[in-house]
This record gives sequence, C-alpha cells and structure tokens, in this order.
Amino acid sequence: MPIGHGARKESQRLFTEAQALIPGGVNSPVRAYRSVGETPVFYDRADGAYVWDVDGNKYTDFVGSWGPMILGHRPAAVMQAVADQLTRGTSYGAPCEAEVILAEKIVSLVPNIDMVRMVSSGTEATMSALRLARGYTKREKIIKFEGNYHGHSDALLVSAGSGVATLSIPGTPGVTEGTAKDTLVARYNDLDSVAALFAAHKDQIAAIIVEPIAGNMGLVPPLPGFLEGLRTLCDDNGTVLLFDEVISGFRASLGGAQELFGIQADLVTFGKIIGGGFPVGCFAGRADIMKCLAPSGPVYQAGTLSGNPIAMAAGIATLSELAKGDGAIYKRLDAKGALLKQGLKDAVSGSDIQACVQSLGSLATIFFTPGPVTDWQSASLSDTELFSRYFKLMLRRGFIIAPSQYECLFVSDAHTEEDIIAFTSAVKDVLCEL
Ligand SMILES: *Cc1c(COP(=O)(O)O)cnc(C)c1O
Repeated sequence: MPIGHGARKESQRLFTEAQALIPGGVNSPVRAYRSVGETPVFYDRADGAYVWDVDGNKYTDFVGSWGPMILGHRPAAVMQAVADQLTRGTSYGAPCEAEVILAEKIVSLVPNIDMVRMVSSGTEATMSALRLARGYTKREKIIKFEGNYHGHSDALLVSAGSGVATLSIPGTPGVTEGTAKDTLVARYNDLDSVAALFAAHKDQIAAIIVEPIAGNMGLVPPLPGFLEGLRTLCDDNGTVLLFDEVISGFRASLGGAQELFGIQADLVTFGKIIGGGFPVGCFAGRADIMKCLAPSGPVYQAGTLSGNPIAMAAGIATLSELAKGDGAIYKRLDAKGALLKQGLKDAVSGSDIQACVQSLGSLATIFFTPGPVTDWQSASLSDTELFSRYFKLMLRRGFIIAPSQYECLFVSDAHTEEDIIAFTSAVKDVLCEL
C-alpha cells in the first residue's frame, strides 16, 4: 500500500464533484487546503494514530479531528459505549441518565464549576455562555483577543484566529456593525490593552472571553501573570471571566488550564474532547451564574440534539479513559509532546530556516518566524508561503498536519514514540529541502 505520496485521484474526483454541490467543496473552510494550494484529502477511514484516504494512502494523523481524538481514532472503550447506546436509541429529545453522568464527571474533574449545560458544538457553547454572561451582568460589551478563535457566532468573528486568520479575512460580511461594536478587541498577553478597554468602557463590559492557552493562531501559551491579571481586572470591574477551553479542556490537564495555572474562571466552555468524536460542546460555571439559564432563570438557551445520548455515551467513555490511573495518560502525552518538541527544535536548528517551536503538553506549532510568538502580531510575521511548501512535502511523506500556519499539531495517546520520531525526522529532511 502506498504511503501518502501515492496518487490522490479519487480525492481529486470527489473534490471536483463536491465543489459543484457544497460551497468550496467542504463543510468547514480550512479543510479545503486552499491556503496551502493542495487538493484536500478525502478520508475513507481512521484507526489509532492513522488515517487512510479514498485512494488507499495511509497517513500518520497529527490533526486528530482538530483535537477531539485525544485517545486516537476508534478507541475500544468509546466504540463499545456507542455500540451499547445504539441498541437503546439514537436521540430522545428528553432527559436521560447519561446527561447526568457526564455533567457529574465534568463537575468533579474540572475545578470551580458547579453546573453544566450541554450543547452540540464549541460555537454554541461560547455563543450561549456570552449570552448568559450578558444576562447575568446586564451589560452588553465583551472583550476578546486578536487571534483567538471561539467559533463562528457573529459577535466572536471579529479579529478571529483559525480559518478566519488563515484566509486573511479581517472581519466577515454578514456580521452587522451593531454586533461588531459590542466586541472589543485586546492584544493577547498584553494586560495594558485590556485595562485600556476597561477604562474606556467603564461598567459596560459583561465578559472577557479568552483561550487560556491560545491554539488558533498556532500554539501561544499565556505569559506568566497574564491570566492572573485578567482575573484581577474582572474582579475589579464586576466582569465575568470566561475561559474558552474548547481545545485546552481535558488536554492541557484533566482539569484544563484552570487547573494547570491555578486560575479560577467564572464560566468555562468545552467542546472537541468532551464529545469523544461526536458533535458536543458545553458551558459550565458557578451555580449563581448558571442558574440564570432557562428554565431556572430568564436567559433562554435550548437545543433539539443537546445531551444527545450517543454523544453523551462517547463523552463519558472518553473522560473515563482520561481519568484512569491518576493522570497516567497525561504523563504519556506530555512525554510524547516533549519528544516532539525536542525533535522539532533539532530539525529547526539543523536547517537554515528561520523558525521557532512552541509547545505545551501534547500541542505544538512550528512558526516560520524567529519568534517568540506571544500574540497575533508576532504570529502574523510567519512566512506562510514557506509553511505551504513545508505542508506539501510533509503530506507527500504521509503526514497529515493542519493545512495552516495558525493551527497546532495534536498528539494523541495512540501515537507511538516511533510515530513521533518518524515525524520529526521527516520534518528535519523537509526543512533542509525547503
Ligand atoms: C474549535 C473551537 C471552537 C469552536 O468549536 P466548534 O465545535 O468548531 O464550533 C471554539 N473555541 C475554541 C478555542 C476552539 O478551538
């Protein structure tokens, strides 16, 4: 069976067909590989750390569905839980025990949260959590950070990272000025920029929404004092601190960034990992805020498929696996992340390429800029043309990485040391070829 660099005729055929039927041929923009000038790979199946395309090529996968597959593809415990639930129905639109079990798991594993509301995506989670913060504080404005991505709801697409950054879209048509004006934008890792917004909009700011570990402009960890400073500013101004942990939740540590950095958020959003590969998101937080939600309070929020029993079963099984053995899986993930980081650093220093490697646990990014990258401004200095060439060569060698400079490498528990070493030695060769 050819590895990666085999022909991709079937992918090309399907992409041509798809483009006539689906805008851009894809159901989420970055998947189109447009910014790297490639034909997207159409997947046929996935197992463990690997995926196979419709042409029969095998790849080692460092995207993992953009984060959810922290256990690898098709982990046995999750497959079994889903199979069991399938025999009892696929959607109820009524309460079921699995919702209570998953909520209890999340509350017991994550610090500082009392209650959880399940939704069907990360976008819904952040959108609903902001509505709740606005309803709770009776204020209208929010602060977000340039280069952070919180899903595609109107208020949060202003200066967003991820695909919006990849496609160089400053804002987006379809978001009204009225909506955009309530979203104030600060600079990541820059407390002065946040303090200035508070000074200019006294008593008007409902919430700060932040990726406590930024993963949508490439991997950008918070500088020491940044999250602490946000906490203090929120306390001083009666503002809700909302940690968007859709990537970092259950990845940075079992309790997420709150646990890792010892900072208490008022509301937290999750997604990706908590659905174990099914469409799930949730928002969670202190009881006094969460109780403002309908039907216990006046802030409306609802969903036909919210708390879907199959997604709940997958989520419960995933979190149970992650919680096994007192953090053993995170020790393994951190060790693999460290191996990846060192291999990438060696690859960079062994080449003439100007690049820096940033990582945290099982997340990493090679930025094609000397760095360090601390915010969107420094991230955007990256040579994206060089990234595209790197991407193409890695794909040809049988490695799937995110088709954008402004994303992370995702390591899963299914990756072996050999997988990581094979990857970093390919990076080493490719950087010398560039
Ligand atoms: C992926 C992501 C979202 C959006 O989640 P979807 O499930 O794609 O809607 C929100 N916030 C962060 C930090 C994310 O990485």
